[in-house]
Amino acid sequence: MEPPLVNYCLECAWSASAVDHTRKQQAALAVEHAVTTGHDIDSYRETDASEESDEPNESDTGWADEWPPSREDG
Ligand SMILES: [Zn+2]
Repeated sequence: MEPPLVNYCLECAWSASAVDHTRKQQAALAVEHAVTTGHDIDSYRETDASEESDEPNESDTGWADEWPPSREDG
């Protein structure tokens, strides 16, 4: 299941989460805020900050120590 999308304003504290609105309502609110205030709206996925990293974590993969694989036709 995808984490809920959050629309937020880059210029004030406005935000609208998919948790509280349907995606259609959320999009409409974002457009309305942008049009009425002239602010820029951005969005992000509501995930834990610890999961934001794209860094590979070798200790989690379990296979890092097995590379390169040993050949059996020696
Ligand atoms: Zn704003």
